[in-house]
Amino acid sequence: GQELVLSVQLVPFDIKRKLLLTRDITQLERVQTVHRDFVANVSHELRTPLTVVGGFLETLSDMEQVDAATLQHFLPMMLEQSRRMQGLVEDLLTLSRIENSPLQAVQEPVDMEALLDTLQVEAEGLSQGRHHIELQRDSSRKLLGNQQELHSAFGNLVSNAVRYTPEGGSITLRWRELDDGRMAFSVADTGIGIPAEHLPRLTERFYRVDRGRSRSSGGTGLGLAIVKHVLMRHHARLEIRSEPDKGSEFSVVFSPEQVA
Ligand code: ADP
Repeated sequence: GQELVLSVQLVPFDIKRKLLLTRDITQLERVQTVHRDFVANVSHELRTPLTVVGGFLETLSDMEQVDAATLQHFLPMMLEQSRRMQGLVEDLLTLSRIENSPLQAVQEPVDMEALLDTLQVEAEGLSQGRHHIELQRDSSRKLLGNQQELHSAFGNLVSNAVRYTPEGGSITLRWRELDDGRMAFSVADTGIGIPAEHLPRLTERFYRVDRGRSRSSGGTGLGLAIVKHVLMRHHARLEIRSEPDKGSEFSVVFSPEQVA
């Protein structure tokens, strides 16, 4: 098989606007369409679990008496749906917090060695022994940025690697300096991979290669949208290399100006 590479050049929205003054109207229309689609998507994503929970509650209320076995049947399913809604609302709040906070807040030295340790612990927590998790700390350089946002972005890449890698697979977290002085954080997995035609749209909100698989693994469809927004604010690039049935590598590349 051939390695497929997608490189997303993330241009901050306000810069793009200044360059494209003459296309302001088109831009505005596009923003409105994106906004409408977003509201429709959120409503749809919330409606399904709400309908399921509502249906179960109705069934339970219609029963004369509810025994323990019946509860044991319904409660885990209701709990799963309520967790799904909670995850979605949390991701929506993260996305809106990132979009609404000022850009200049992003400038403190972030200890990548410590962050890598934390991410490894989190990966192990999510994996629960189902994967081999490896850490490659090839640099001790710090990053200039917002610790909380970077943690959230890198955490989403780690959580995806765990969720899209079958049991027994490996996940490698790496922090290294590239030949040209840029720094890269990457998460590589030996998971299901991504067919090439999906790569360009992967960071769109609610875009999923396989809806069922994303949901059953606890995905909200917003993880890579969060990643994209955080990276835009850090002038970083996202590179995705993936091969179906072999695995994926998500690399975040920072320019030398973002290094402390
Ligand atoms: P989700 O919550 O659905 O995982 P994301 O925005 O994080 O949403 O990712 C979008 C889609 O990209 C996923 O639904 C999945 O199809 C695909 N994807 C992301 N990371 C990986 C990965 N490491 N391996 C395979 N597919 C992935």
